[in-house]
This record gives sequence, C-alpha cells and structure tokens, in this order.
Amino acid sequence: MLFDTHVHLNAEQFNEDLQEVIDRALAEGVTNMVVVGFDEVTIKKAIELAEGYDFIYASVGWHPVDAIDMTEQHLEWLRELAGHPKVVALGEMGLDYYWDKSPKEIQKEVFRKQIKLAKEVQLPIIIHNREATADIVEILKEENASEVGGIMHCYSGSLETALECIDMNFYISLGGPVTFKNAKRPKEVAESIPMERLLVETDCPYLTPHPYRGKRNEPAYVKLVAEQIAELKGLTLEEVAGETAKNAKKLFGIK
Ligand SMILES: [Zn+2]
Ligand SMILES: [Zn+2]
Repeated sequence: MLFDTHVHLNAEQFNEDLQEVIDRALAEGVTNMVVVGFDEVTIKKAIELAEGYDFIYASVGWHPVDAIDMTEQHLEWLRELAGHPKVVALGEMGLDYYWDKSPKEIQKEVFRKQIKLAKEVQLPIIIHNREATADIVEILKEENASEVGGIMHCYSGSLETALECIDMNFYISLGGPVTFKNAKRPKEVAESIPMERLLVETDCPYLTPHPYRGKRNEPAYVKLVAEQIAELKGLTLEEVAGETAKNAKKLFGIK
C-alpha cells in the first residue's frame, strides 16, 4: 500500500505512455495517487483522470508562478470544482521566488484568496514553496490556515520549520530529494518528525529519486522514497507505506 500524494500525470511528459506508467505504479504497490492541477489545462486533465480511475483523486489550485494569470472567474471555477466528489484538496498554491513571472505581491494575494476559499469549502491545501519559507509561514498564520491544514509538498526546509508547520496542522511530504546523498535536511526531517505527520510523493515528472535522477520521474518510484524513509527511521518499507497511506487517507477524507 503506497499513497503518492503529489503527481502530475496531467503533464505532457506522460502523453505518450500514460497507461503504462499507471500500470507500473500499480505493479509496485501504489494504491492511490492525487493528480495536482495548477492552471487551466492541468486542472481539466486532473479532473478527467480522477473521473477515469477509481484510485486517482484530484487537487485543484493556482500555481504561484502563474499567479498573475488567475482571474476572478478562475477562482469561481475552483470553488465549483471543490464540490466534485473526487477533488480532495486545493492547490498547489503558495509562493515561488525562484521564477519571477509573477510579482511577489500578486503571488501573496492569490495565495491568500485560495486559503480563504479552502476555509469556505473546508478542504485541505497543498503548499508549494520555493525560496519563500518565511513569507509562507507568516501567511499561513495570518490566514489561520490551521483550520483546514494540508501538506507542505516536497518539503526541503529545516526541521525547525517542519515542526512549526506540524503545529499549524500540516503534514510534511517528502519526495525524491530525500534519496539524494547530499540531502542532509530532508534526511534529518525524515528521521526526526513523527510518523503520524509524514507523507510520501513523487511530484513526477520532476524531482526523480536516486538512482534514476536525471530521467523522467513516475509514481512507481514513490517506493524508493518510502524505502529511504524506512531506512532512516529504522522501520520496514511496509510500515512506512502503510502509515503514510493511512495519514493521506485521513487528511483527504478517503475511506
Ligand atoms: Zn510544487
Ligand atoms: Zn507539483
């Protein structure tokens, strides 16, 4: 039982061989995944996939890099989609200071609007953070995001911040980087945070774990992430897979 909490099977990188990718994931023991949509095209495709497969769910939101493109109609559309039976979260949303397509102030505004929406529709949120940790934590506090909680996706920050996020009702999701030899912080986080607050993800097609680094990532490789965490925590793969899947189902309200 493995629950990949963050996949982009809606990305064009999977256009050619989507079914084979899904079959390989099932063969490796992946029992559930959440396809994350973050703009018009990827949201539509995330919904299609969630409607097409029992074990696939969708999360819908507006990515901070494209914050400048989000209109009021888009926000209304997200509100509508939040009522879809297979939509289990809003996001990914957050702040990304690496790319400069959208000014910081617009990113913050779009982030706050989506947190407010999540509180209205009572769905957890999936947070994307790139080089913006302090501002993200501040906004989550100011907007009382703890009311809905959610996921710090592909977490790469410090242990201290991870614990702060857990206090705000968030889960820490680890991805491929935890398998990298030089990834001290994700390894420290994996070792130290309580099992009840840990999730696993691939963020495929990006952030491919060792030993496939540099190639396209896919949900089957979430097993490598869980194996690494098991090693760091002194647990079995089955224990980590089972616990993280249980956490994900609880958060997403999946039976
Ligand atoms: Zn992201
Ligand atoms: Zn993502």
